[in-house]
Amino acid sequence: MDTVRGTETVASPLQESALRKKGLCDYVINVASGCLHGCTFCYVPSTPVIRTRQAELALKGVDNPQMDWGKYLFVREGIAEQLEEKLSRKKTWKTTESGQGVVMLCSGTDPYQNHQTAKITREVVKVLLKYEKRIRILTRSPLWVNDIDILRSRNVTVGMSLPMLDDELSRKIEPAAPLPSDRYKAMLQGYEAGIKLYAAIAPTPPTMHLQDFQNLLHKIIVFEPEVIFWEPINARGTNGKRMIEAGLDFVRSVTNRHSWAENFIQQWNNLEQAATIIGCKDLLHIWVDPELRGFVNDEALDYWLFRKTVEDWDNYTREPKKLETSIVQAIAQHSKAIRNQKKSPKGTVKLVAS
Ligand code: SF4
Repeated sequence: MDTVRGTETVASPLQESALRKKGLCDYVINVASGCLHGCTFCYVPSTPVIRTRQAELALKGVDNPQMDWGKYLFVREGIAEQLEEKLSRKKTWKTTESGQGVVMLCSGTDPYQNHQTAKITREVVKVLLKYEKRIRILTRSPLWVNDIDILRSRNVTVGMSLPMLDDELSRKIEPAAPLPSDRYKAMLQGYEAGIKLYAAIAPTPPTMHLQDFQNLLHKIIVFEPEVIFWEPINARGTNGKRMIEAGLDFVRSVTNRHSWAENFIQQWNNLEQAATIIGCKDLLHIWVDPELRGFVNDEALDYWLFRKTVEDWDNYTREPKKLETSIVQAIAQHSKAIRNQKKSPKGTVKLVAS
């Protein structure tokens, strides 16, 4: 299928979200439906957000919204104005232990996947800040650094998905998303600018072991994240089929509930062990899945479900600060080595696009 692009409107710009069970938010705003990053593991097309819209999407030229994920994008151009209208009238605001009234952008698409969505996201953020709402950005694109001027706020935390820093593996799993090395550089830039940051080590492939987690955490703590979320790949839906179609044979080892749970527990142990070695275990936030019940003890599962994160929303504790030259040089050398190794034109982006 050729890529289909368009616009759409939604009845309500702000949705209450079940992601409070992960400690992520109480509300979500999605600035588009569809996502041109088209990550093979993405679970969004398997959720009701897409599944209930099969007929509508077919009319727009999307025959198979699950398998063609990554090839369609419908942006919600007027959503900032809708939000302004809604918040000007809204009297109640949900504040729970886990989400603390936080609004997440986005749960079903990438808010900064291109300049079109980035522009809409910027307008939405401005409205939310005007009404003093707490905002969680989650993206795979470094384009957010263009908005540092408005994101530097105690009411905003910016997170990037960094399941790995292996650009070569990333090209197979998330072929159209910006390279992890570019995402990492964006986080360092945000750190230097005094942005509140978090990391989402998600979703990790089953090929990652203790040393991989250790290497990754070692780099992540450089930008002093306030929290580090984690979950492994869950490939039991159509995303598993997409991954197999993309030649990712390793996913065959985790496509049934038992093997998925076994891998989950093993990686969970490895991650906690790695975090203990690195000294950042207190920052971990495990995105457990209720379907693990019966595989792990209830206490461990219930500890993480609906848990509040350790982020400090009440105080702005960040200061713009320069990274040590030695760290910057080491990162630059690492990135250069990767680029020389793999000259893949697909998916690379400029750190700050004009
Ligand atoms: S960037 Fe996020 S929403 Fe987009 S395809 Fe990847 S996982 Fe899905």
